[in-house]
Amino acid sequence: MTPSISSNWDVIIIGGGAAGFFAAIRAAELNPDLRVLILEKASQPLGKVLISGGGRCNVTHACFEPAKLITYYPRGGNELRGAFTRFQPSDTVEWFESRGIRLKTENDGRMFPVTDDSNTIANILKFSAKQAGVRVELGASVLSVEKSPKGGFKLEVQKEAKVFSIQTKKILFATGGDRKSLALVKSLGHTIDEPVPSLFTFNIKDKRINGLAGLAVEDVTLKMDSLIARGPLLVTHWGMSGPAVLRLSAWGARILFDKKYASTLTVNWLGDYKPDAALEVLQRNKDWHENARKKVLAHAAFSQIPIRLWKQLVTFLGEKNWGDISKAELQKLAQELTAGEYKIQGKGQFKEEFVTCGGVSLKEVDFKTMQSRVVDGLFFAGEVLDIDGITGGFNFQAAWTTGWLAGSAMA
Ligand SMILES: Cc1cc2nc3c(=O)[nH]c(=O)nc-3n(C[C@H](O)[C@H](O)[C@H](O)COP(=O)(O)OP(=O)(O)OC[C@H]3O[C@@H](n4cnc5c(N)ncnc54)[C@H](O)[C@@H]3O)c2cc1C
Repeated sequence: MTPSISSNWDVIIIGGGAAGFFAAIRAAELNPDLRVLILEKASQPLGKVLISGGGRCNVTHACFEPAKLITYYPRGGNELRGAFTRFQPSDTVEWFESRGIRLKTENDGRMFPVTDDSNTIANILKFSAKQAGVRVELGASVLSVEKSPKGGFKLEVQKEAKVFSIQTKKILFATGGDRKSLALVKSLGHTIDEPVPSLFTFNIKDKRINGLAGLAVEDVTLKMDSLIARGPLLVTHWGMSGPAVLRLSAWGARILFDKKYASTLTVNWLGDYKPDAALEVLQRNKDWHENARKKVLAHAAFSQIPIRLWKQLVTFLGEKNWGDISKAELQKLAQELTAGEYKIQGKGQFKEEFVTCGGVSLKEVDFKTMQSRVVDGLFFAGEVLDIDGITGGFNFQAAWTTGWLAGSAMA
């Protein structure tokens, strides 16, 4: 710490990300007498806000019903139900608009600043913190936290080569998925659910999708074990991506980690078509006299399947005409289209968004205040908790909501 910094604080927030800033601003605006300090180990605050959403920052999602909103969280949905009745996406929109930052909604519900620039979001957070009198100390890494015999907490903080000791009445962990910081939380008596990645793409080497990178199918249903996800799918150089895949990766984050990212994926290229319904359509195609001499390869039976994909799914039929395919072959094709099996052989990175599943166990946190049920005066917000959403702005919304609640309670 620079000597000008007091060694005594009312509130110390570890982590200058979305959750930490939101909590600090809320606390300091509610109680202007409160001395609030953010300790951020990086040389710049709000690093993830800046890179988020491909540099545009997908701030939240246009879903304003708490009961619906929680269905987008593979972990933490139940706990967030009450929290969203206190601070939800409409409050986020209002929070930013009241500070002159307008958000817009895209067709899929994702909300971005109208500037399409994440700097807009980072700048208003920094400006609001400054206005509220929050002190932000950069390059300051918290090495240890312990309960102080005098009450409150004692922290060891490293800045450059120096280590300082500071004291605070209340402390908020807003440290994201940082493993060392989770170990600090554990040292205070909390249970940590092992952090593992969520929101990733699937590595799949399979000749049916070989050479099709960039091809998209609007509505597919994916199954893995008992998990199901539906939505658009994108073929990539390494396998499969797109909203349906990311959703399945989020719900299956722990299962896939346990299986070392090797599993069988069932793909229904026809959305919710059942094999029997697909078979009927195929049979009609075969029976239609004009089709009898047309090659199956060149004449797709379903307009929703791009012809390049269709050709690779029907290669087992060779050069056959529609009129020449047998009942068994039709059945095999119906199966291929509605329940094709693909081997997941690893995971890839989704560059636009990434979160960790796991973190501080939710049973030990009071979601009205975000205060620990184990240690008085200890609070949590954001990704440090075992909360994560699917892609679409839900992860930032969890950070805003839990940050706002923690800030309100600490003030
Ligand atoms: C590439 C990418 C794009 C994303 N895009 C989106 C998106 O568009 N929409 C969306 O909803 N979500 C998105 N996410 C997820 C979202 O960024 C996170 O859910 C969110 O940033 C979590 O906020 P947080 O404040 O809890 O944690 P973080 O943003 O991770 O902040 C934690 C901070 O704590 C600091 N810290 C940790 N330990 C210490 C310590 N011991 N001492 C001092 N400082 C410490 C870290 O340096 C960090 O700055 C994206 C994530 C990534 C990686």
